[in-house]
Amino acid sequence: MSSLAHFLDNLRCSICGTLNALWLDPVRGLVECQECGQRALAFPEIGESE
Ligand SMILES: [Zn+2]
Repeated sequence: MSSLAHFLDNLRCSICGTLNALWLDPVRGLVECQECGQRALAFPEIGESE
């Protein structure tokens, strides 16, 4: 199995509050929660160009 995803330890989802459910998708630069499916940019400054 080759997975590009990296689980993020000791991080809590800000939406559902689940601990250690977040994983990083380095290809898209996104962090996704396995519990609620919430996605967020791993590097928020990229999405705040304005
Ligand atoms: Zn969540």
